[in-house]
Amino acid sequence: MRKSFVAANWKMYKGPKATEEFLSAFQKVSNENMQVGITVPFVNLTTAKNFISKHGVNLLLGAQNVYFEKEGAFTGEVSIPMLEEIGVDYVVIGHSERRNIFGESDELINKKLSALSKSTLRTILCVGESLAERESGKEKEVVGAQLRKNLDGIDSCYVKELTIAYEPIWAIGTGKTASAKDAQEMCAFIRKCIEKLYDDTAAQAVRIQYGGSVKAENTKEILDMPDIDGALVGGASLNADEFEKIYNF
Ligand code: PEP
Repeated sequence: MRKSFVAANWKMYKGPKATEEFLSAFQKVSNENMQVGITVPFVNLTTAKNFISKHGVNLLLGAQNVYFEKEGAFTGEVSIPMLEEIGVDYVVIGHSERRNIFGESDELINKKLSALSKSTLRTILCVGESLAERESGKEKEVVGAQLRKNLDGIDSCYVKELTIAYEPIWAIGTGKTASAKDAQEMCAFIRKCIEKLYDDTAAQAVRIQYGGSVKAENTKEILDMPDIDGALVGGASLNADEFEKIYNF
């Protein structure tokens, strides 16, 4: 049985002080089959890790980006060994804000995933279509192509540990949520793609989150869907009480 995974994505919000305040207010995860993570800006990782270790908080810690080279002249980048040294659990790659604002290509995302697959870090790989692509009925074509390119050469052992976040771009930060039925249809499609690219064992093991304006009111309907194993939550994860209502839905 797949364990659900609800991950906060704080984007470029909160510094170390606000991180400690959030963690001080963090409430217990009530469902044993639920994993919760916070994906914080780089500057908060050490603060968060120290707090989590000291207080025994049942929370995974994630980074919002990483570079695929181990070290070198790459000003402004952070490497996998650096995140491993801090004790980070997972990294989000392929977020639509990285793809669209920072021009990250499928090839670059594939290089990151390849490097991550040889490390101790887990990955949340984000995929999703734009509004224009959905309106022209191309959502499956777009997401299928992202998966093929991003997963090129990635070992099935790592895919079984992977989380894929289906995040329709038109639903991110807009207040518009995909209907639970549409989200389920796309997550089932993603699982089928994994079956085609790998096999049924990998398809049944991979976790698929939905992301896009998830809030307390719509969580249950979405997470009750059979192919949706959790959520990637932006805006609503910034407040510890609101986030608690989501992971303890
Ligand atoms: C996200 O940042 O991945 C996201 C889904 O944001 P929001 O929940 O604010 O739409």
